[in-house]
Amino acid sequence: MTLRVGIARDERFLEHKTGHFHPEHPKRLEAIYRMVDRHFKDRYFTDRLISIPPGPATLEQMERIHSPAYIKRILKTAEQRITSLAPDTPISADSYLVAWLAAGACVKGIDSLMDLDCDAFFALVRPPGHHALPDRASGFCLFNNIAIAAQYALDQHQLRRILVIDWDIHHGNGINDIFYDSKEVLYFSTHDPMLFPYSGALEETGGDNALGYTVNVPIPRELTDADMIFLYREILHPLIKGYQPQLIMVAAGFDAHTDDPIGRSRLTEAAFQGITRLLMTLRHLSGNPPLFFSLEGGYNQRALADSVQAVLKELIEGPTASPELSPSETVLDLVAQVQSIHAPYGVFHD
Ligand SMILES: [Zn+2]
Repeated sequence: MTLRVGIARDERFLEHKTGHFHPEHPKRLEAIYRMVDRHFKDRYFTDRLISIPPGPATLEQMERIHSPAYIKRILKTAEQRITSLAPDTPISADSYLVAWLAAGACVKGIDSLMDLDCDAFFALVRPPGHHALPDRASGFCLFNNIAIAAQYALDQHQLRRILVIDWDIHHGNGINDIFYDSKEVLYFSTHDPMLFPYSGALEETGGDNALGYTVNVPIPRELTDADMIFLYREILHPLIKGYQPQLIMVAAGFDAHTDDPIGRSRLTEAAFQGITRLLMTLRHLSGNPPLFFSLEGGYNQRALADSVQAVLKELIEGPTASPELSPSETVLDLVAQVQSIHAPYGVFHD
C-alpha cells in the first residue's frame, strides 16, 4: 500500500538567519528542497506528493504550549538585527516570523491528515522545535513545533492518544517535559546520552499520573542500521498494540547519520527508511493512524537530503521488503532493559 504524502515547504523558512558558521543554516533546507525538485518531479509523484502551504498558527494555539511572557519576548526580537536567545541559539529579525510559520505548518499538517487530504505529512521546516520549553529557547529551537501540533490535535480534533517518536540523536527534552504527566501523548525517544541536553535516562518514564507513558532509550554510539531497526521493532510493536495511537508523530532529526558533524552515531539513511517501513506496517495494529513527520536536526546537507529522500520514497512507494535483522548482543541487552523497566506499567502489550 502506498500513501499520499503532504509536504510543507516554503522559501520563507530560509529567512531565519543564524550566522555563517552555525550548523542550523538555511542551506540545510535548500538541500532538501533541491532533492525534492530533482527526485519527485515525475508525473508518478505528482498525485502522491501533495503540497500543503503553511499558514501561521494562532496566538491561542501557541499559548497552549508557550507562556505569554515568552511569546512576547520572542516577538520583541523583531526589533533587533541579531538576538542571542541562548548561547547556541542566535536569531535574526525575521526569525520570530519564520518560527511562528514553522509551528503553523505543523498545525496545518494535522488538519490535512484529519481531513484525509493525505495519509502522511512531512513538515520540511526550520527552526527545529523539540528542545523548546514553554518559557525557554534552547538547542537551536524557538517554538516546540511538534508539541504545538500535538496539543492542537488533542484540542481541535478530540484525539486522546498520540504517539510521538523522536529519532533525532539529541533527547527532545521539550516534548518530554511538556507531556511528561500526560497519558494523551506518549513520548518515545532514542538519543545519545552523552550529547546535549544530557537528559532522557531509561528511568525517566513519566510523571505520577502517567507512569510508563514516556519511553526514553539512551543508545550507544556503535548501533548499526540493523540494530536500530531491530530496537524500534521490538519497542514499537508492543507499544502500538498496547497504546492504540490515533496519530503517530515523528520528531524527524537526521543527526544520528554517520556523516553528521554533530552526532557521533553510525547510522545511514537505510535506518530511517527501515523505521519508516516499520511504522507503515505496524500502524495496522492500531487502525492505520496517519503519520506525521517534522524536521528536527541533521547538519550534513547531503546526508540530510538523502535521509529525507529515503523516508519520502518509503512512504510514497510503499513498504519495501524488510531485510533479515541479526541484532547485536548490545541491542538485545538494551531491549531487555527497556522491557524490564516498563513491565510494571502495562503500556506495552505482549
Ligand atoms: Zn539533534
